[in-house]
Amino acid sequence: MEFSSKLIEKAVNEMAQLPGIGKRTALRLVLHILKQPKEQAAFLAQALVTMREEIKYCNSCHNISDSEVCEICANPGRNHQIICVVEDIRDVMAIENTGQFRGIYHVLGGKISPIDGVGPSQLTISKLVEKVKLGQVKEIIFALSSTMEGDTTNFYIYKQIADLPIVVSTIARGIAVGDELEYADEVTLGRSILQRVPFEKSLKNN
Ligand SMILES: [Zn+2]
Repeated sequence: MEFSSKLIEKAVNEMAQLPGIGKRTALRLVLHILKQPKEQAAFLAQALVTMREEIKYCNSCHNISDSEVCEICANPGRNHQIICVVEDIRDVMAIENTGQFRGIYHVLGGKISPIDGVGPSQLTISKLVEKVKLGQVKEIIFALSSTMEGDTTNFYIYKQIADLPIVVSTIARGIAVGDELEYADEVTLGRSILQRVPFEKSLKNN
């Protein structure tokens, strides 16, 4: 792609680093920004910089948060004895959208995936196990995608908490194998949380 302006070229190249944005789309966005008032571009740039600088991770559940403890963990109306284990913030958003879950979350930050070089120590698994061992938790619900990595991660966590006096369950698989949670429609996802099954039973089905 030939540019008559180095400034445009630089902006397009930066924009094209984003996932799903090719050079053509990047150029369209850049030209759109160019047509808008200067302040609009400043608002966009500032919002990105501020977000990147100031975003925090919840001390308790590791969800992305504006404060040290996220709004969900800080809410006394939530049931802190039920923890739903998810991969990332998109899953929290998807499950929150169903309006069917009143417990709290634990965000792992990924799944165990040796091929991608992700081991248990890169995830927040030990924090979750510590939290469960404190004795306040009554139920853990696994809500990872049902891929091999998701299953491996569930089982790895399960082995560490299986002897503790808590219920370990997994969301019902109305969601097809391999589907990512965020793509499930709200009704299906909501139902799969309500109709969760004991984790051990899900192992026998495999
Ligand atoms: Zn939190």
